[in-house]
Amino acid sequence: MRLDTKAMRYLTAEDWRTLTAVETGSRNHEVVPTPLIGQISGLRGGVHKSISALAKVGLIARLKNAKYDGYRLTYGGLDYLALNTYRKRKDVYSVGNQIGVGKESDIFVVADEKGVQRVLKIHRLGRISFRTVKANRDYLRNRSSGSWMYMSRLAALKEFTFMTALRENGFPVPEPLAQSRHTIVMSLIDAFPMRQISSVPDPASLYAELISMILRLAQYGLIHGDFNEFNILIKEESSKTQENEKITLTPILIDFPQMVSIDHANAEYYFDRDVNCIKRFFERRFHFTSDENGPHFKDARKLVGKDGSKRLDVSVEASGFSKKMAKELEAYMKEVGVDGDGDPNASRGDEDSEDEGDSEEEDAEEDGAPENSEGPSTKTVGETTKDSAAVASA
Ligand code: ADP
Ligand code: MG
Repeated sequence: MRLDTKAMRYLTAEDWRTLTAVETGSRNHEVVPTPLIGQISGLRGGVHKSISALAKVGLIARLKNAKYDGYRLTYGGLDYLALNTYRKRKDVYSVGNQIGVGKESDIFVVADEKGVQRVLKIHRLGRISFRTVKANRDYLRNRSSGSWMYMSRLAALKEFTFMTALRENGFPVPEPLAQSRHTIVMSLIDAFPMRQISSVPDPASLYAELISMILRLAQYGLIHGDFNEFNILIKEESSKTQENEKITLTPILIDFPQMVSIDHANAEYYFDRDVNCIKRFFERRFHFTSDENGPHFKDARKLVGKDGSKRLDVSVEASGFSKKMAKELEAYMKEVGVDGDGDPNASRGDEDSEDEGDSEEEDAEEDGAPENSEGPSTKTVGETTKDSAAVASA
């Protein structure tokens, strides 16, 4: 989904109040009745002008239910509310190119006031199969159309909480910078997903590093659950000695909405799948096969708490992502078929797809670079300022 920030600077203070009122009203109403919007916003009868302005640019949508007319927030409206929060807190000043689009998220390069680039990840759960879910599920019945909003919020909150915990404990992950509603802001990693890397000088050492990352996660009580070539960015750093240049590859791990505790009922399945994803990718792409079997789940379990490491699966609960939230999100993700990277075309770790295309075009497309599908050279990063649109009001 696009993120068109054009209308942002034309919204008046009343429009923002009205938009916020629709958001507030949707906590209890699938369709927020017009008089209630007037009441919450404090604008009363004066609210109509703002309502039509917001509806015109698609931030709210008019709906009729059996009893009354009213409005609901659209994804666009929720995006605007999040961006407005970031603008006020000075987390985001401008929005640039979209660098990723998955089934369940959109990724944009943004910049702060000083022009420092960051990444905005917008979670969009239920964008694909929400209708079927809605028809079938009890747990959605009470929240109905609010559920996409609620679930996307949960995904963002979970990702932010886990990223923070991982970062604090020295894991190579982006720096989490801010969170609002269904979105997070994190540092931009100047690197490509491993999926786009055709060869590496020393596959064995990169493999070893990735396996040790899986084991280190286990030590802290966690399984990534989607540890694959899409969610590992490979940073290249060159260090020059007198005569030669040495290139170091550092893997950075991203994408945390599906992380699970090592105590999860299906922990072994997720653990094995993470390990096998890496094994399979290294065999296919780098023609590298490890001499060793495993690592196996039972051995990983023995590492939990080793060297006094904290149980992050436990500590995240204390820092705001509760067990109940985890259960709700997991149930929903299972229902809408989010079991992995959120990329509809991606070859999943648990599928043995022999038809995996390795051409550059396919790679670019699969990696979700819709407007920049010229392969790795289209990092888009350098172009951000040129194409970016300021979200700050004039
Ligand atoms: P999804 O849930 O849709 O898979 P990801 O978090 O995996 O979302 O991000 C999708 C893509 O966006 C990644 O494969 C990567 O190319 C890019 N990306 C995400 N976060 C960052 C970041 N912090 N820095 C650079 N690129 C990123
Ligand atoms: Mg991903």
